[in-house]
This record gives sequence, structure tokens and C-alpha cells, in this order.
Amino acid sequence: MNQFRIRFSAKLACPTHVASQFCFSQYHFITRSTSLNMLRIAIQKSGRLFEDSVALLRDAGIRFGNNSNRMLRTQASNFPLEIIFLRDDDIPEYVEEGVVDAGIVGENIVLENQKNVRTVERLGFGKCRLCIALPKNAAYNNPQSLEGLRIATSYTNILNNFLQTHHIQADVHQISGAVEIAPSLGLAEAIFDIVSTGSTLLANGLREVETVLESEAVLIAGPSLPPDHQEILDRLLFRIHANRNAKGHRYILMNAPNEQIGAITKLLPGMKSPTILPLALEGWSSLHSVVPEDIFWDVLEQLKAAGAQGILVVPIERMIL
Ligand code: ATP
Ligand code: MG
Repeated sequence: MNQFRIRFSAKLACPTHVASQFCFSQYHFITRSTSLNMLRIAIQKSGRLFEDSVALLRDAGIRFGNNSNRMLRTQASNFPLEIIFLRDDDIPEYVEEGVVDAGIVGENIVLENQKNVRTVERLGFGKCRLCIALPKNAAYNNPQSLEGLRIATSYTNILNNFLQTHHIQADVHQISGAVEIAPSLGLAEAIFDIVSTGSTLLANGLREVETVLESEAVLIAGPSLPPDHQEILDRLLFRIHANRNAKGHRYILMNAPNEQIGAITKLLPGMKSPTILPLALEGWSSLHSVVPEDIFWDVLEQLKAAGAQGILVVPIERMIL
């Protein structure tokens, strides 16, 4: 059984563009994660998600070496976590097979790869959209306009799903890169691809007509983790939530005459209610509270109008609700 695991893992661990002989020597010691008393997480080895994935873990207080010497795995020094660096396309399969417990990858890859994994958390970075685009002058009214067209994409599963939902028969051509030049080469009448700013589409004489998916990086995990691994994942999630809550809020301090405390308190959402402390100056108090970032500027103006003075706003490092 152990033999199987080792062979199996070595095969899985091979980035598709590298010869398997090489991969075996690099990865042959990767066994299933269940045998470890730590959580094993896969993140992108390099590319658009790498830096934010590393930052997410470091902001959670986890210390580990950087990937500057292109290492394939590293162990945290202060948390039971092993980090494996992989190509993003391989991550869902590793998670499904239990070679790693969890992974950070684009939702687009998760949906396309159709592996048995669960999305544990949306992470708010790596945002992009998957869109259908047509040549600038081609007519488009609604998804039915795609009927009978050839559509080039590297996301065939997501596209087929969309076409089925709208009962459209189209000819899906799978290509692996430079999808946007397919129409000008006569390979397809439409494309389905990742768009961030839209400038690549424009440069190729295309226009976006339909957004099929709004994607971002997600934390995925195997369908059921051993309890001790799930517990470590929960600890990691607790830290991620504390950071996210802190980023979305500001701590606010102000002075106010006592007769204005009632009016000001009504303006402060707070976690429970504001802290009110007397100032050395008779008849005045200091009020402290936490304000969500999205309503922060509105609240600030209203506080000032209600008589608050000397308003200080400070960032919150961690916030546990
Ligand atoms: P790998 O070498 O790991 O296979 P890749 O070249 O396939 O990497 P990247 O281009 O690094 O992938 O993109 C990784 C993920 O970043 C995408 O799958 C997507 O979720 C997200 N992403 C965010 N913005 C963009 C964008 N403008 N173009 C492509 N991907 C984007
Ligand atoms: Mg990839």
C-alpha cells in the first residue's frame, strides 16, 4: 500500500511540462497527508496567486522560508503546516486525492477541473472574470446568438456547462493558450477566456459580450479531512477571519461634550456599544468604537456634525468577533 502511495504521489506531483523522471527525483517522498500530524497545503509555485497566497499565510502569523530558491516544499517553524508549491492546474487533483489536505487556487481552475473538493473560503484576491467575446462587429443579443458558432477556449467544462444551461448547441474548440487570436486565424467565431482589464481583447479586435464566471482565489480542502487535520485547518481559518475582519474595520476615538454622547452613540455601530471614558476636563468624555470600512467616511462626517472633536482613526491589526 505504501509503495502504491509513493508511486501514485510521484505521478501526481509531476508538473505536466516537466519530464516525469525529473519529477520523481524531486517529489518521490510525498506520501498521503493523512500520515502526518500537520496540515499540508498546496499553493501556486509561481504566477499570479503566489505572492498573495504567501502573504495570506504570513499575515496569519505563520513563519516559513521564502520560495526564492525554487524549493518544492517547506515546513512552517511555528505552526503545524507544510506548504507544497505546485502548478495551479494540479492543485485540485492533489487535494481530491489527499496528497495535500488543502490548497489555494483560482475558482476558475476548481470549476474547470471538476474534482471532488470543497471550497472552504473565498480569499478576495486573484480576481478575474471568464467571458465570452466576439469580433467587434459581430451581432450579439443574448446567449442564443452563440448558436452554431465555433468557440475557442481552454475552459471547456465551464463553457459547456454555460451552453447547456442556455440550451445552446455550439462547437467548443479546446486550445491551451493565446485563445484570443483564434477568431483572426479563422479557427473560431467566438472565444471564452479569462479577462482582467479587457485590453488584450481590444488589441485583438474582440469585445466582451457575456460574463460567465466572476472568479477569485479560494481555499479548498478534501471532502473529509482526518479530525486532527480539520482542527488545524479551523485554526488557520480563525486567523484568516481575524485578519479579514480587521482589514474591513477601523478603530475610532473622539472627544465629545457629555450632552452629545447620546446622539454620537447612535451613530456608532460598534462591536457591542462604544467605550465611554471621562476626560480630565469636566463635562467631556472620550468615545471609542469600531466602524466598518465601507460606511466609515459617512459616519465620520456625521460624528463631526454631532459635535465630536479630535477624532482619531487607527487601523486594527487583528479582530476576533
Ligand atoms: P501555473 O504555472 O501555476 O500553471 P498559470 O500560468 O496557469 O500558472 P497564472 O497566469 O499565474 O496561471 O494565473 C493563476 C490564476 O490567477 C488564474 O487561474 C486565475 O484564477 C487568476 N487570475 C487573476 N487575474 C488573472 C488574469 N488577468 N489572467 C489570468 N489569470 C488571472
Ligand atoms: Mg496553470
